[in-house]
Amino acid sequence: MSLPVTAKVPFGGDYNPEQWPEDVWKQDHQLFDAAHIDLVTVGVFGWALTQPAEDVYDFSLLDRIVERAGAQGRGICLATGTAAHPPWLARAYPEVTRTDFEGRRHRFGQRHNSCPSSPVFRRLSTELARRVASRYADHSAVVAWHVGNEYGGACYCELCAAGFRDWLRHRYGTLDALNAAWYTTFWSHTFSDWAQIEPPSALTEHWRGPDHTAFQGVTLDYLRFCSDAMLTNFRDEKAAIRESSPDLPVTTNFMGMYRPIDYHRWAPHLDFASWDNYPPDDESAARMALTHDLMRGLKDGQPFWLMEQTPSVTACRDVNPLKRPGLMRLWSWQAVAHGADAVLFFQLRASRGASEKYHGAVIGHAGRADTRVFREVAELGAELARLGPASLGARTPARVALLFDWDSWWALEISDGPSRLVRYQQVVLAYHRALWEAGVDLDVVAVTADLSGYDVVVAPALHMLKGDLPERLEAVAARGGSVLTTYLSGRVDENDQAFLMDVPGPLGQLMGIRVDEWDARGPEVVNPVRLGAGVDQFDVEARLLFELVIPQGAEVLGTYQADFYAGTPAVTRNAHGDGHGWYVAAGLDRTGVSWVVRQVLARHDLLGPYPDVPDLESALRVAPDETRLLFLLNHRPEPVEVTARTGGVDLLTGDRVEAGQPLRLPAYGVVMLREDR
Ligand SMILES: [Zn+2]
Repeated sequence: MSLPVTAKVPFGGDYNPEQWPEDVWKQDHQLFDAAHIDLVTVGVFGWALTQPAEDVYDFSLLDRIVERAGAQGRGICLATGTAAHPPWLARAYPEVTRTDFEGRRHRFGQRHNSCPSSPVFRRLSTELARRVASRYADHSAVVAWHVGNEYGGACYCELCAAGFRDWLRHRYGTLDALNAAWYTTFWSHTFSDWAQIEPPSALTEHWRGPDHTAFQGVTLDYLRFCSDAMLTNFRDEKAAIRESSPDLPVTTNFMGMYRPIDYHRWAPHLDFASWDNYPPDDESAARMALTHDLMRGLKDGQPFWLMEQTPSVTACRDVNPLKRPGLMRLWSWQAVAHGADAVLFFQLRASRGASEKYHGAVIGHAGRADTRVFREVAELGAELARLGPASLGARTPARVALLFDWDSWWALEISDGPSRLVRYQQVVLAYHRALWEAGVDLDVVAVTADLSGYDVVVAPALHMLKGDLPERLEAVAARGGSVLTTYLSGRVDENDQAFLMDVPGPLGQLMGIRVDEWDARGPEVVNPVRLGAGVDQFDVEARLLFELVIPQGAEVLGTYQADFYAGTPAVTRNAHGDGHGWYVAAGLDRTGVSWVVRQVLARHDLLGPYPDVPDLESALRVAPDETRLLFLLNHRPEPVEVTARTGGVDLLTGDRVEAGQPLRLPAYGVVMLREDR
């Protein structure tokens, strides 16, 4: 099973008409028509209305919402409605609320408030999903199922403790195996009964907070357990949907680089991936590209849905900047350029009260069509309508893979030493940004992905090495490819235990080095690194972590310039088979990372069409009929003019573009070039 079947890129978003009187619904749909909105996501937070008491189900309101949307010709992404449980449920069954990290049993409130291990929650959420699916499965407007919403958080209750022990029994089989994996001879922790095992919390292994644990193995397994427990909730609901709806695809909306949930472990259970894009600032073009690619990588490169984005502002942050004119359009096309086969908003009409009343919406509180935001949404809707199916199902022809690994993320950030200042995401973002600026089409993939199709594999801060990954990376180099990794890679096995060998562990052969010592310093300490050779030498800054490298066959391409290790290697390249292993031993600045990445890319002729034009993004998709679609996205607030590298037709304007001729993009402009065959 794959993506929902649609005739064009679906356009619309979350719609919560249960929040306002029905006489407004007519106006809603008139405005949807004006904005070319053809898909609504409904019922995400409907539990209290559809099941007002344990033995009472009332679908009359949802019936009317679904009927009207269908009658107006709109597709429906129908939610199971289990993302927030109703007050009566928490009152009748206190076990359904969560216990937090400090051990406090919560009472009714907020959302994300259900204990994933509660048998009552599992039974009633599954039953609601079963009834929703059975009632609407044959409704012609329903194109997809939306389970839950933005799964996340953690629970530390007794039910979760019992669930954790079961999960551990399944993982380890025996207490001897568990004791070995957790290294429990340290600090007298040897367990002699499963019942002795406690969830790692502020009451047990932790100090200062969730990242400060005395036993990394315990905390790592609890992170894995929490992710799996919520996955079980998703799978429960999906199985219930399948009883009456064998053919419609099922998804849940992810949150991009969201640490608590290992989306790679979830991905096989979704029919298609979808995610909510709320970048933390308005300078996040590279970060958004990375996250889109991460989401596309979840299902082997299959397109995803952009399930939510704000048309204007968010409300959840302390300060919520407005998307400048043109940015919503630009970022929407960026999503399409990276594999989105739907462009959807949260939300279509603004809530009148509660925590999202100031969250941006296509239709504001006054219900006007003559606002800038509505006008820009309607213009994008018209563009997508004109485009039709051209980009549906198109794939990204990537020859570069960026490895992303939740286990490495967790292990690095719960580790005592070498440095709390080295953050996994920041290292990944730094290397991704260099690739993005070079205009490279890349896949962001799990460490278990097939790497045989890639010329270059970049693995920043690959802290944990699992399974046969070292051999598969060696194979990439052996056949002529390049593998690039960094400091804090190859440190621990899947149980977070150090390898009993030189750092970088099983990557040592490929990298041709050994790391003898490491020096972590505050952000104010700079050790310059000299890169290049001969007259082309130049210095860049390095910070936070400095590994002291002793080459074991690798060639030295960069050296530290200060401290007692001045003159020793900071960047190396090792010949391995027909290719290379590259190692960056310190936190290089942006110029330094860019230099290393472009050295690697140049060898494989992988620089994009405009690698030296700042903030001009390029991304290629290849449609199922082999049509090549080149997206050019100008992220600058001023125009840019370049020379067209290939001829074709700009599908957004219908204009011809000739190779070798000037191509002008306005501020925040987009070109979607259907290249000549
Ligand atoms: Zn719980």
